[in-house]
Amino acid sequence: MAFQLPPLGYDFAALEPHIDARTMEIHHGKHHAGYTNNLNNAINGTDLEGKSIEDILANISQHSAAVRNNGGGYYNHDLFWKVMSPNGGGAPSGDLAAAINAACGSFDGFKDEFSKAAATRFGSGWAWLVVMADGSLKVSSTPNQDNPLMDLAEVKGTPILGIDVWEHAYYLNYQNRRPDYINAFFNVVNWDEVAKRYAAAK
Ligand code: MN
Repeated sequence: MAFQLPPLGYDFAALEPHIDARTMEIHHGKHHAGYTNNLNNAINGTDLEGKSIEDILANISQHSAAVRNNGGGYYNHDLFWKVMSPNGGGAPSGDLAAAINAACGSFDGFKDEFSKAAATRFGSGWAWLVVMADGSLKVSSTPNQDNPLMDLAEVKGTPILGIDVWEHAYYLNYQNRRPDYINAFFNVVNWDEVAKRYAAAK
C-alpha cells in the first residue's frame, strides 16, 4: 500500500488571514503531493515498502537522501496540517500547559523560544515542540525535511507541534518577513490536537 496524500481537513481559505488560500493550495496540492509521490517512488521495490513512516524515519540514517527528504516531507506536512485549525489559537490547558510551563517557564516563554527556533533556522527547515523520552518537552529545530523522529536528529523524541519555515510556506503573503508568519501561526495552532499528541507520546 503506497503512501497517500492526506486530506487537509479544512478549506484552503480556512486559515486566512493568517495563512492565505493560494499558499495552502500550492503547499498541499503541489509540495506535499510531491513529497508523497517521491517517497513512494523512492521505496518502490525496496524492503521499505509496507513499513510505517515512523519505522522508516527511526532508521533514516540507513536510507537514501531521497527517502530522508521525501519521507520527512511526507510526515512533517501531515503533522503540520493537523496541528492547525480555523478554530485554533489561544493557549494550551491541563497537562500540556503544565509541561510547557515546566519546560519554558510560561506559555509566553514557550512562544519566545519556539519563535526564536523558527526564525533563526537558517535556510529551510522546521521548528518543533518535542516530547522527550522522559516525558518532558523541548523546543528544537531541524534543517530541510528532517524531524525529531529521525535517528540522526540532534534532539530526538516525538514532535507534537511543528512549523514549516521553508519559504514556500509563507513567501506569497509574507515575502521575507518570516517573523510575521511565525506570529500569525500562533493564531491557528490547534492546541486540542497538540494535547492529544502529548498524551499519546508521554
Ligand atoms: Mn512545506
